[in-house]
Amino acid sequence: MTKQAAASEIVIVGGGIYGASLAYELAQAGKTVTLLETDDIAAGASGGSGERGVRANSRDLRELPIATASFPLWAKYQAQFEGGVGYRRIGGLHLFNIPHGAHEHEVRGTMEAMAMVQNALGIPSELLNREQTLEREPELSGDLIGSVYCPNDGVCDHSFATRAFASQARKAGANLRTGARVTEILHNKGRATGVKLTSGQIVPVGEKLVLLANTGVLPLLKPVLQPQEIMPVIMQIPQMMFVTNPRGKKINHLLGHAHRKLSVKQVKDGTLMLSGGQSVAYTPEGHWKGSLSSTALGLTDAIATLPFIDECSFLKVDASRVESCAVDGIPIVDTLAALSNTIYGFAWTGHGFAIALGFTKYLTDWIVGGEKPQALDVFSAKRFRQASH
Ligand SMILES: Cc1cc2nc3c(=O)[nH]c(=O)nc-3n(C[C@H](O)[C@H](O)[C@H](O)COP(=O)(O)OP(=O)(O)OC[C@H]3O[C@@H](n4cnc5c(N)ncnc54)[C@H](O)[C@@H]3O)c2cc1C
Repeated sequence: MTKQAAASEIVIVGGGIYGASLAYELAQAGKTVTLLETDDIAAGASGGSGERGVRANSRDLRELPIATASFPLWAKYQAQFEGGVGYRRIGGLHLFNIPHGAHEHEVRGTMEAMAMVQNALGIPSELLNREQTLEREPELSGDLIGSVYCPNDGVCDHSFATRAFASQARKAGANLRTGARVTEILHNKGRATGVKLTSGQIVPVGEKLVLLANTGVLPLLKPVLQPQEIMPVIMQIPQMMFVTNPRGKKINHLLGHAHRKLSVKQVKDGTLMLSGGQSVAYTPEGHWKGSLSSTALGLTDAIATLPFIDECSFLKVDASRVESCAVDGIPIVDTLAALSNTIYGFAWTGHGFAIALGFTKYLTDWIVGGEKPQALDVFSAKRFRQASH
């Protein structure tokens, strides 16, 4: 007779930055934790080449309180973990020009309003004119009128950070199982009692089941969702491009742009990573290698912003990491009506890395303390339901 494995108090599905950092925090808090990952740690959106922007600048205002909680934690773990988490606080500039047909006073008004509200919500933000911006970033082009500068923004080697949290979680006693695909949630009397793996094995759930499997959350939720629990979520693949830097130009900050789908980072070897919003549609048949139209649009925006990029050589395009995206652009973090002990978080919509540690802090408070923190209310799936009269 085979002995039934003892249930971990907490079972987490997904070994990205969310699952790995939550496994660490909960193990540190004394919980028994099992994390199940279908592939390997950082096999999804939290892995791959380049760096992720750790940015509050120009973020959806509803996410700023989470960014405020998250940023000190990036700095804390960079200092605390041996070898750090690959985080660098380099400051961020959100750039403005006057797009065709726009009025200058409107653009300047937008810049001022953005700096004002970000400051009010706890994100230090400074309005810089054209000269002040060029002093910080001399390679920018002539059509620039100014920027909003956030000194606390930065970048992070996301794959390294995710693996660092996974390794620390193991050290703290969590059981991280890779090659373990969850196919079904088992439940009884309104509670998740276990999850079934492709192998047929059942992993029992003690106190809580936490679904942090990004693109894998919706397929697991579907059989247990109530008709009123609507999830307007699509899958997208943000595209990244990499170019050489033959004349050794220096980009000092994380750059974003108000009117162009552009984010620029200079990675450690000096080459440039160009991303920021051009996406490739996801098809279940397979991943694209990248789209020519997204490449053309991304490069045009990059060269208009940093003219020296026209002299760089193209290194590669990468559109291999799928991300779940909500129709209103902010994540969905909630519990299920049918299963009171199940929490899920997904639909990070292409900007979930920076705020991961803030969400992890609140998820830890929820699981350990028993009360859902108010800070998470705005991310509830209830926002997609009509109020009943
Ligand atoms: C190209 C790109 C650029 C980005 N740039 C930025 C940026 O600059 N700044 C920023 O803040 N954010 C950025 N993001 C978003 C950010 O990377 C993601 O929001 C974040 O990494 C999501 O983390 P996660 O742990 O939820 O998901 P993932 O890292 O995708 O982890 C989920 C894991 O679940 C596993 N899984 C799925 N289904 C199952 C199952 N059934 N059973 C077991 N395991 C399962 C997957 O294999 C995966 O490893 C970017 C994303 C991409 C793709």
